Amino acid sequence: MKPLVDTFGRVATNLRISVTDRCNFRCRYCMPEEGMQWMNRKEILTFEEILRLAKIFIALGINKIRLTGGEPTLRKDLTQLIAMLSPLPGLKDLGMTTNGFFLKEFAGDFYRAGLRRINVSLDSLAPDRFAEMARREAYQKVMAGLDELAKYPIRPVKINTVIMKGFNDDEVLPLVEFARARDYQIRFIEFMPLDGEGVWSRDKVMTTGEILDSIRRKYDLIPKETRADHVPADTFRFVDGRGEVGFISSVSEPFCESCNRVRITADGHFRNCLFSLEETDLKTPLRTGASDAELAELIRAEVWRKWAGHQINLATFIKPERNMSQIGG
Ligand code: SAM
Ligand code: SF4
Repeated sequence: MKPLVDTFGRVATNLRISVTDRCNFRCRYCMPEEGMQWMNRKEILTFEEILRLAKIFIALGINKIRLTGGEPTLRKDLTQLIAMLSPLPGLKDLGMTTNGFFLKEFAGDFYRAGLRRINVSLDSLAPDRFAEMARREAYQKVMAGLDELAKYPIRPVKINTVIMKGFNDDEVLPLVEFARARDYQIRFIEFMPLDGEGVWSRDKVMTTGEILDSIRRKYDLIPKETRADHVPADTFRFVDGRGEVGFISSVSEPFCESCNRVRITADGHFRNCLFSLEETDLKTPLRTGASDAELAELIRAEVWRKWAGHQINLATFIKPERNMSQIGG
């Protein structure tokens, strides 16, 4: 089958599937403290529906799938979904992004079901600061989850960190050192205007350049990957050979021209960009008898109309209606 291509020649190979919009945290850069309206359970795709879509996407050339949310581990029987997806022929890579809270309980099950990549979000190593960022006293639980994860050969474990100026901007080096000591690859994700409270402002973004400067005051780094590899993170190696650090510079250096990602929301809407203002409803046709070929055509059309890039840095930027947790970051 022809690849999933857009009018700029980019090929979509990487699909993020949100399995729930719910979360047990309320990270400041993602969700409001109160007042989230959860999707109706009937609106959420079933595992069978996710499996059917995954097979169609793989037939269209998707070879990497990442489960996300909301908090994916809140989805009941997630292990079962992992076991359904992991053996799919053509799927090279099945991963998950999680806040780590339930890894203590489930890391082993996830591994045995076939999960081989995990990103754990961690924004602070100080329990009080962590609680301030996530608005939950969950630091010890996440650390216990990371310890549990270490028992399984899931490599590399990546740590996702969002630095907000005025909150955790003094933790760049401690987090880098934590990651180096534990053999994690830390990835700094620039704070994007997708938070539920609308608190984003440019002056709260610690940019990749600023983070790099503060790391380089202590460590020498050399670039590892370039965006030509379709990896949105620019990755650097520590010259002393100990570990790597990645950057997702969506605000300061957008990587839209090499973006290969597409997304399905928990309620079955297909998005060709994190920031897109339009989406294609796949759930309704899925539930009203559409054939695989018809679904594939809807997917193809949505990818085809992907825009050149997001508009964060333009005065005309319009924030999507959904926040990060509702899209699936
Ligand atoms: N709940 C899981 C977690 O926190 O890892 C998965 C979903 S979360 C939406 C996925 C990633 O998006 C996390 O690494 C989180 O730090 C990041 N994120 C959330 N809101 C963000 C924002 N406004 N800007 C940048 N990254 C954000
Ligand atoms: Fe929940 Fe993840 Fe959003 Fe934090 S970043 S509120 S853990 S979905």
